[in-house]
Amino acid sequence: MTDALITRLNYQDTDFTGKLDALLAWDSVSDHKVADAVADILHQVKTRGDAAVVEYTNRFDRRDVQSFAELVVPPEALQKALESIGAPEREALQEAARRVRVYHEHQRQESWRYTEPDGTVLGQQITPMERVGLYVPGGKASYPSSVLMNAIPAKVAGVDELTMVVPAPDGELNQMVLAAAAIAGVDRVITAGGAQAVAALAYGTETVAKVDKIVGPGNIFVATAKRAVFGQVAIDMIAGPSEILVLCDGQTDPDWIAMDLFSQAEHDEQAQSILISPDGEFLDKVEAAMARLLPEMSREPIIRESLRNRGALIKVDTMDQAIALSNRIAPEHLEVSVADPDTLLPQIRHAGAIFMGRHTPEALGDYCAGPNHVLPTSGTARFSSPLGVYDFQKRSSIIYASPEGASTLAHTAATLARSEDLEAHALSADYRKR
Ligand code: NAD
Repeated sequence: MTDALITRLNYQDTDFTGKLDALLAWDSVSDHKVADAVADILHQVKTRGDAAVVEYTNRFDRRDVQSFAELVVPPEALQKALESIGAPEREALQEAARRVRVYHEHQRQESWRYTEPDGTVLGQQITPMERVGLYVPGGKASYPSSVLMNAIPAKVAGVDELTMVVPAPDGELNQMVLAAAAIAGVDRVITAGGAQAVAALAYGTETVAKVDKIVGPGNIFVATAKRAVFGQVAIDMIAGPSEILVLCDGQTDPDWIAMDLFSQAEHDEQAQSILISPDGEFLDKVEAAMARLLPEMSREPIIRESLRNRGALIKVDTMDQAIALSNRIAPEHLEVSVADPDTLLPQIRHAGAIFMGRHTPEALGDYCAGPNHVLPTSGTARFSSPLGVYDFQKRSSIIYASPEGASTLAHTAATLARSEDLEAHALSADYRKR
């Protein structure tokens, strides 16, 4: 940490790698007190069902409900919320949903099969999950865009039942969140949050049907609960703080780049904003733009803290070095702010989402361009991908042996089975021999 607005690094610095590693270091959820509290909540909901969910909800969200039924939002309230919000907000939600839906329709995987020369048919059948739970955070702020980004891929995949849980502190429920749920086709909304809502979805209660997968972000209680129930149900991911990496040739308006870095930093104090450029003077201009624009920002304290904690402006010698660094960082969001990003794209191996050219700020992707904003963080883009329709589809292998195929396969199968000393396997195959 320094007193400067943002850390400056140079690829030529001695121990550049050590400094970069220190900047990127991030410890994912691990807090023993929280883990103990969450384990207790999970156990209570597993054994006492609805009653435990009601108790914890009353305690943590300052509610005063007598029964679980009061936590269930009446279906007509979703449509009412959609009608109650302002026309510009409604149209923005509808347009964002339309674009997200069209994009995700391209991701739908289809079943496939082929026939071997012996007549045996092999393939894969794709089926959607039956029930999915969507966690929408609601403790301190509301996220209607999260509703669209999580629910629409599930609906496009063909999920039968989508249950959304969202805390309503003091009984207050954000109408934009409900309106987004109406547009996205959420089937049921329950106003409970935290570990108790995750437990209800994972184990099922008298009122809540157990789901197959839980998706959606949340605070440390939610993340810890999701990690604990993984295995009983599938989960999407455990997201770390949000990140942006901008690669720039030095020719984009410095104010644009400064604001792109702010747009990430305003999320929270641990968010990470990094700019890499071969043009040292350009980095000076961006730093000056940041200093000038920062006092105008409504979230100035959060942005300042985030830039100070984890931000950096990095000078490299060449764009090739910039790309090598980017691949090492494997950022959640990568802006390639150059004249012809297509020439660089083939070299980019690890990034959650790639924003191409000077006119594509991350903010467009966060809300409405079409691709999903649920992305791998903390370097996990090295091995994982954005949330998509494929996360709600499963694959079953198909084997349909012809009489001739069974005969040929039996010989191979029985030989291998006997080498493993599994006689029933061998005979089961042999019986099909002609
Ligand atoms: P939240 O819904 O995640 O958590 C609120 C719930 O936490 C409460 O309902 C309560 O049940 C539980 N809780 C609070 N204090 C507790 C305690 N002492 N013991 C047990 N349970 C307790 O809402 P939030 O708190 O506003 O957090 C939202 C989080 O989601 C933030 O960290 C935000 O950064 C993150 N987020 C991430 C993304 C993303 O895409 N990565 C998007 C939106 C939000």
